Parts: sequence; structure tokens; C-alpha cells
Amino acid sequence: MTTDTASAARQANVTPRTIRTWARMSAVAAVKAHGRWVIDTDSLRHRISLGRRTVAAQLAAFTDAKSAQAKAEELIELGALIPLDAWRYLAVSSSGRDGYVVDTLAGTCTCKGYVYTGRCFHTVAAVMLESRTTAQLALAA
Ligand SMILES: [Zn+2]
Repeated sequence: MTTDTASAARQANVTPRTIRTWARMSAVAAVKAHGRWVIDTDSLRHRISLGRRTVAAQLAAFTDAKSAQAKAEELIELGALIPLDAWRYLAVSSSGRDGYVVDTLAGTCTCKGYVYTGRCFHTVAAVMLESRTTAQLALAA
């Protein structure tokens, strides 16, 4: 079974633009026919089940969720998160010397904090930023 971009976007609760990016990057199985993406529904379902991690789920990993949220807000205000593509962000360290890649679909980060503890403020901040962007896109539509 296959579906189109608009329907896939509704099912995945993302924008059609995100679906096109997923298709381009092979995050979902898709072929282009007559200039339109035809998306494989099984692969879309799998992608949705991997799930975009919610802010709440990210915060649940911290014993002090409130201060984790505040730290994440700070990162956003500092502009420490740069969107790389539909769901990945580059997190810049406070020294500006290091960069980590945050994957909001997998809920992972390449920083030491995440590698050792399975949680970090970058993932919280990225998911927060992403949910805000999605909300803004929904308002604009
Ligand atoms: Zn991190």
C-alpha cells in the first residue's frame, strides 16, 4: 500500500514538507512518480512508531524535571540549537568549540552526557524547539 504526501503528513502529524524531507533522505520508503512522492505505508507506520519523543518523555529521564526544562530553555535562548534537517539539530557547546547532533526521532544525542547517562539537555531543548515550530506551522496553515 502507498499513500501521498498530504495523507502521510496527517498520519504522522507532521508537515507535508517534513514528509518530503523524509522521502528524500530515505527515512521512509518512497518513489517519485510524475513529480510527486508516493510513500510506502508500512515504512511510514514504522517511522511513526519510532515516534517523535515528546518533551514530557524527555523530561521524565531527569530527577529534577523543572531545572532540566529551565536549562533547555536557556539553550534555546542562547541559540545553541541549529536545525540540520527535518528532525536533526546541531547542538553547540557553551565554549562554541564542540558540536553534537541531536536526533529528535530517535531521542538521542552524540554528546558525552547522553552517551554516558542516556539523557541530556540538548535532546530536551531540541524536542521543545521542534514542538514549537510544529505549532507555529499549524497556526500558519
Ligand atoms: Zn546532548
